[in-house]
Amino acid sequence: MYIVQIASECAPVIKAGGLGDVVYGLSRDLEDRGHCVELILPKYSNMRYDHIWGLHDAYLDLQVPWYGGVIHCTVHCGWVHGRLCFFIEPHSDDMFFDRGLYYGCEDDPKRFAFFSKAALEFLLRSNKRPDILHCHDWQTGLIPVMLFEMYKYHGMEHQRVLYTIHNFKHQGHAGADILHATGLNREAYYFDPARLKDNFNPFAINFMKGGIVYSNHVTTVSPHHAWEAHHGTCGFGLGHTLHVNQHKFSGILNGIDYAMWNPATDAHIDHPYSLSTFEDKALNKKALQERLLLRAADDKPLVAFIGRLDEQKGVHLVHHAMYHALKRSAQFVLLGSATEKKINDWFWHEKTHLNDNPDIHLELGFSEELAHAIYAGADLIVVPSNFEPCGLTQIISMKYGTVPVVRGVGGLLNTVFDWDYDTTHPLEARTGFVFYETDNYAVESALDRALDLYYNEPKLFQQLAQQGMQYDYSWRQSGDQYVALYNQIRHK
Ligand code: ADP
Repeated sequence: MYIVQIASECAPVIKAGGLGDVVYGLSRDLEDRGHCVELILPKYSNMRYDHIWGLHDAYLDLQVPWYGGVIHCTVHCGWVHGRLCFFIEPHSDDMFFDRGLYYGCEDDPKRFAFFSKAALEFLLRSNKRPDILHCHDWQTGLIPVMLFEMYKYHGMEHQRVLYTIHNFKHQGHAGADILHATGLNREAYYFDPARLKDNFNPFAINFMKGGIVYSNHVTTVSPHHAWEAHHGTCGFGLGHTLHVNQHKFSGILNGIDYAMWNPATDAHIDHPYSLSTFEDKALNKKALQERLLLRAADDKPLVAFIGRLDEQKGVHLVHHAMYHALKRSAQFVLLGSATEKKINDWFWHEKTHLNDNPDIHLELGFSEELAHAIYAGADLIVVPSNFEPCGLTQIISMKYGTVPVVRGVGGLLNTVFDWDYDTTHPLEARTGFVFYETDNYAVESALDRALDLYYNEPKLFQQLAQQGMQYDYSWRQSGDQYVALYNQIRHK
């Protein structure tokens, strides 16, 4: 099959979170199975060019219709760790991808509507006719809309779209303006509750809703989150749209790429280890303590948090877990970045306040390299998310023998099985600690259970860590499910 992934991220060249990991990992798995896979991405000025091999011009003057005129683009092509990627670079005063950041601009809907239009125009003009366009998140929600309302009539009638939602919270809203920019025009037609009209704001179109309505199939990134989004509040207002489209909506758990995340081969860690050399994990803990100027104490459990510092990730509980760990004589390492000023200021204040404490280190920013060292060096990782479509940090940490303490939502519930209370898995198949409420006591009690096991039953704690390492969350199974879906929609 010929599959084109269209997304706003691909790790490690463009990565803000799990979306990047998934786009890369899934593409690699599909290629390993013998499929032909290409990726279309924006050419951001701030992406990691050191991860692209052989970057060259692939299409010199792509003229993308925009507001009745055109924007001239160059499409560049290069390999990101073996994956063939096309990067779209528009030449206009808007400087859509030339801003030193991936997201967070007021005109984000316009930036990614343009990217979506340009991706389709590139496929059309370069005579690429993939079997499947696999689109990801709100940034590409307008692709199936434009494909089935416009491009289908210009020679792209056989293409089919799978649309994967990694986060329902960000949906992409815009006014009628975008319809005119992209050439969809017909306001009255698209401002229809059955098409793009937002379910709550009558003056807005909703990109993600468009993606759901027009795609041949829609997935989200774990079975439990598919249920939560449809029946609970996790759909952020799209529950009804999912209900209407439930015949083509399902959840597939994310995998991780074990070529990138494997303590036995990880180039970012000082002391590689595997299940059979598990004792070497302690050397990585020591190295991490040294690197972050923490007190060298191997009897102290090291608790970590890695993730975006944002309401979704339960920042208040992260903050509480930090202090609770210190109170219980543990150490704490946090690696996170906040886009919201209020949260950023808060954690910078904490960092200054705790600067001289030898048992805690807060690293505020994004560092792929440090993330690997923390997964390898920590004993426990906390993931107290308010909602979590899949969550990769707990899956990665299990591969590194780092025990997850998580809130029982979304994909966390599909991947972490409580050591004390799980009723569906025998003790030897359990992997961590789960709590459900959103208050401080909830995270405290789960963390206490984990710390008690560490302090009082070190052998059992090691056994639990090793049980997590034995799970296979590679792309093998999830890849099977995606291929089955591609085949299903291809023959429609
Ligand atoms: P989300 O996609 O909601 O951000 P996930 O758990 O699905 O969360 O994926 C997070 C990914 O991003 C993981 O690979 C994690 O290691 C990485 N990550 C998150 N924050 C940082 C950071 N500050 N520095 C390095 N890596 C990070």
